[in-house]
Amino acid sequence: MTLRGPVVEVNDPRTVETRYGERELAEVRLRPDGGAAAPATVTLWGKWAETAEVLDPGMELLVTDPEEREWNGETTYGTSKGSLVVVEPDFLVDVTDVRSWVQCPRMYYLNKLSGVPLNYPVVMGTLVHEVFGDLLRGRDLEAAIDDHVADAGLELGLLGRDREEVTDDVRRNARAIEGWLSQGRLGGDGGDDGASIDDPSGDDSNRDFGPERSEWRSEQTLVGERVGIKGRADAVRRGVPVELKTGKNLRKEPRFQDKVQAACYALLLAERDRAAGTATASDGGRALPDTGTLLYTKNSALDRNEETGDLTPAKDFSIGSGLVNYVLRQRNAIAATEARGDVPTGYEADAKCEYCFERDTCMVVSGRLDQESKAGSVGRAVPEEEREYFDRLYRAIEEERREVHREYAKLWEQTAAERADDDRALVDLEPVGNRQRDDGRWELRAAGTDAVSKIREGDVVLASDGHPTRGTAELARVERLSPEVVVTTDEPVELRRLDVYPSELSVDRMLTALHDAVLKGSTERKDVLFGRRAPRFSETDGTFIDNNDAQDRAVRLAVTAEDCALIQGPPGTGKTYTLARTVRALVERGERVLLSAFTNRAVDNALEALREQGFDDFVRIGTETGIREDVLDHRLDPRGDPGERVRELRSAPVVAATTASCGSRILRECSFDAAVIDEAGQLTEPATLAAVNLADRFVLVGDHQQLPPVVRSENALRRSLFERLVERYPEASVLLDRQYRMSQRIQYFSSTAFYDGRLRPATPEVAGRRLDDLDGVDADALPTELRDAVTFVDPDGRAAGNTNAAEAARVREVVEAYLAAGVAPGDVGVIAPFRAQVAEIGRRVPAGVAVDTVDRFQGSAKEVVVVSFVATGSLDGPIFEDHRRVNVALTRAKRALCLVGDAAALESDPFYADMLDWARGRSC
Ligand code: SF4
Repeated sequence: MTLRGPVVEVNDPRTVETRYGERELAEVRLRPDGGAAAPATVTLWGKWAETAEVLDPGMELLVTDPEEREWNGETTYGTSKGSLVVVEPDFLVDVTDVRSWVQCPRMYYLNKLSGVPLNYPVVMGTLVHEVFGDLLRGRDLEAAIDDHVADAGLELGLLGRDREEVTDDVRRNARAIEGWLSQGRLGGDGGDDGASIDDPSGDDSNRDFGPERSEWRSEQTLVGERVGIKGRADAVRRGVPVELKTGKNLRKEPRFQDKVQAACYALLLAERDRAAGTATASDGGRALPDTGTLLYTKNSALDRNEETGDLTPAKDFSIGSGLVNYVLRQRNAIAATEARGDVPTGYEADAKCEYCFERDTCMVVSGRLDQESKAGSVGRAVPEEEREYFDRLYRAIEEERREVHREYAKLWEQTAAERADDDRALVDLEPVGNRQRDDGRWELRAAGTDAVSKIREGDVVLASDGHPTRGTAELARVERLSPEVVVTTDEPVELRRLDVYPSELSVDRMLTALHDAVLKGSTERKDVLFGRRAPRFSETDGTFIDNNDAQDRAVRLAVTAEDCALIQGPPGTGKTYTLARTVRALVERGERVLLSAFTNRAVDNALEALREQGFDDFVRIGTETGIREDVLDHRLDPRGDPGERVRELRSAPVVAATTASCGSRILRECSFDAAVIDEAGQLTEPATLAAVNLADRFVLVGDHQQLPPVVRSENALRRSLFERLVERYPEASVLLDRQYRMSQRIQYFSSTAFYDGRLRPATPEVAGRRLDDLDGVDADALPTELRDAVTFVDPDGRAAGNTNAAEAARVREVVEAYLAAGVAPGDVGVIAPFRAQVAEIGRRVPAGVAVDTVDRFQGSAKEVVVVSFVATGSLDGPIFEDHRRVNVALTRAKRALCLVGDAAALESDPFYADMLDWARGRSC
């Protein structure tokens, strides 16, 4: 049994006399069944009483296996020997965060702010972990070292390291692993279980520590759905966690924080077995592994004559329920701190500041943000408005993190069918074979499927044999989705299901960007960002674009900007062309430019425009799957000789990357004269800052009247930096006011509703565009209701959830009418607000017709566009509230636009009623 629900009352812990002696307890009232049942009292006994100290009313509490008692006609509960007590179970704390919290709660906070920096110990740690994984998968040691050192070429180059030196260091660390494995530790009993990684015959075929033969698993992803912890164990052997540390430890015992980390994995392994129904222990079904192993790889590199202490690299320790419960209480303290929005001060624990290697950072952050800290503070606080901004956005980012955690919870809260319906999973896959590749990783294949999902090639997902948290699951990279589904993983798994794996990476990077902007940003920059000084511009002569005044003014503004310039580009106004011209003009002035955008697609489009303008001296940062094929020849391969790689990066006058990549540890090491950032209207402030932080000046290009920032929560992140600055500094912005896409009739509504009527066709030819002008098209062949350039059709359908079958059928008729009139299928696009309706329509319309959501249509155009609104009766839901999405949908068409929807629903909202009037030709 599990009690779970919101807490309504918390009593302070107290000590009582029991027949076993004095014991601590704390009584908590909660509403079981997730708040549905009447309040009940649960007594937290012993050490669990400490949890009451971090608990507040309103927080969610979960107690497993409580003892039930009748008391004065009321059922009360108390923790039992096997109970686990979990605060805010849906808040998934990462194992590494529990580790840093145990060192000092404030260190956990500081790590969140500064992210993982690029330094040699971090890169070395990653390399040794990768080699460890390869050894467990049976790969040759030297091949593994060579391969991974080459992979890290760019990072090592930035650190000024050469390949030989690093290879030697990795080899020294790997010797500990090698020695440990060859000492027969694989058998666990010192016996010979066939493990040998140094077969003198040179024959690899009898290696016996492959995953299936010796029950080793390298790099196991674990999510504890009851205990609110997630993590990735370095290795698991016969159910026992093994953690690798690339430092030294000369004591007999593992370091406490390392034990804590291993104990977290032990708990997660036990939880996974329990959820899978394979737990056997009587201890509340917890089946905890009773030992853990820490492997300190530097120990074997030390000289026995110079060092004293225990130089053994591998240190085993026992894991009891006392340690595991302690770990969980620490995790609870983190979850409660985050739920309250508190900032840890360091006083929560007894870490000694004088021994802390984060002391300087800790004091600087306290000083700059005027925070209380156990270490004290140095320096002057940033102005109040900056602290207020930091706090507001910090809270918003953490809210976004909670939304990501809610996505995690759906991994187990939703059934397979529900996840498939939500496009979050591909289920019921038919495995057709696994193959181990030369690099030791596994290629898993399943028969192709025509099911729709958000999963795309290049994504990192969870591949499982049936359930992502209760079955066997592996983090996988999607290589192909058709004709077969192919993914790669560290370990083999029967490929029956793929799930979207929510990532906190963008949240983490937003936090780091916010930290860098407020705490490390120049005062000059911040004066503009915080409205204390208007942006300044210098003078320049000359014309950059001679046939479009607004575009020319935009480039001039950008190149003369001493702080920032803002270019608003409504649909079809040549925004990408102007952006490319701006980049060229900056390079011509001898500046080094960072070219960035929210999506890979926009980055590649900008590079394509640069190439069309005769400029191709750029490097592209990104993954092979993320970058478009025709740009791949400019991709900066991070693999190779460190010196060469870093020269390539540093000598390029233009470096192009998504804003997400700008937060990477590689780009955080780079600096530029100017950052030109596209799709700025779709970026949150902190995501924009990730790119802005890397340059002296910045140019934001976007349109806040089109798609807004992509965030899950309703908070300060919804407003882009672009929108804020355009409103604050209209004199620093230019509106590109001539559009080259839509006929006059089509552009009218968008121009009036979103651009104060300032948007105009660039030429009479554009204004007068007609379907008839297309080769082979006879507009007279269209039914009367589709003859106008903008039309409306009401199919009299009925929406069921996010689909409307009758409307989908009517869309097909409309599309077929255009095709019958001679329009090519490739010239027709259909836009629907929901993926489900996209799928419904996609099944009906002929091949070659593009059908997609608004978001995926942004940036593209078609001769003919049909928009399906789906909703009937009323316009419920946020998708209809944000009119900017409609602006995108209505501005994709060049010559014909047909709106298909329920007139009654659309007329229920003044904005849509106006749109309907325009579509019916009553206003134009
Ligand atoms: S300096 Fe003190 S308060 Fe700050 S992180 Fe270190 S131990 Fe914690």
